[in-house]
Amino acid sequence: MAFKDVVGNERIKRILKLALERTRVPNSLLFCGPEGVGKKAMALTLAKTLNCLNLTTDSCDECPSCEAIDKGVHPDVMVIAAEKQEIKIEQTRFLKQMAYLRPMTGKKRVFIVVDAAEMSDPAANSLLKVLEEPPPYSHLVLVTASPFLLFPTILSRCQTLAFSAIGREEIEKILLERNFGPEQARILALLVDGNLDWALDLEWEEVQSLKEESWALFEALASGDRSALFLERFGTLAKAVQEEFGRTLEVFSSFVRDILLLRLGGDPQFLLNPDFEPRLREASAAWTVRRVLGVLEELDFVLAELPKNLNKGLLATTFFSNFGELRHV
Ligand SMILES: [Zn+2]
Repeated sequence: MAFKDVVGNERIKRILKLALERTRVPNSLLFCGPEGVGKKAMALTLAKTLNCLNLTTDSCDECPSCEAIDKGVHPDVMVIAAEKQEIKIEQTRFLKQMAYLRPMTGKKRVFIVVDAAEMSDPAANSLLKVLEEPPPYSHLVLVTASPFLLFPTILSRCQTLAFSAIGREEIEKILLERNFGPEQARILALLVDGNLDWALDLEWEEVQSLKEESWALFEALASGDRSALFLERFGTLAKAVQEEFGRTLEVFSSFVRDILLLRLGGDPQFLLNPDFEPRLREASAAWTVRRVLGVLEELDFVLAELPKNLNKGLLATTFFSNFGELRHV
């Protein structure tokens, strides 16, 4: 993928292209911003452009260097990711050793550390020196959705580029190009909330089953008699379930927004889940506006906290009990 093909974050593209034009790309970079907005893709494109044999301010995606990076076999470009939820000191030590070696075949060495917040403390500490004074031929790009979890000493050594969520219209457009129907594209774009990777990953059937499962949990939670289902599912959050927790809450949030719309007598054509209209109507008749607003507030809070908070199980439990209390307002 070349810069011209990366969706969204035009400002960041401009900054990087300008830096490339002036051959002044910072050696220590931090790409932060929400999940699924193309941070890693942008870092790989930067790596390709720095090494491209044909172009200087974008990747050609055709030369042997670009192709090798796309296949993940370029000797000078390394992607470091967590193994079992942690980036270990052995990995960053290796990175450091490589960073001080001249490029083998390319022009620049590029190290992309994805999920950089998962570096163990020793791993993070071992990078301080190379981030502070990287050799001119090495570039380190740390990628994370949770910069708040990085040491200030890491943050202060990197030039930070903050990515933003991809616009709803842009996602909708891409989905339409991928042969989703207009209504499906609209629902999906709303659901993924700026997470383009997720949007591209989804099959319509999956969305339907995610919504059905979420509705079952939502109803259980709202009615109170089977609310323990929610805790069973999310009370202890393994990494795989964490993502699902976030997604389920996004769906909850779309349900509650619809309930609010119906409660206030809004036009059903604006429903986020038109396919759930009868069920939503039933819920909206039973919920007070105060309760709807209270639950929305809780949801917004948890969704904003999720990327910052290490103890996601606790967040889930707190959400569970606050949702429960709102049953009586
Ligand atoms: Zn190329």
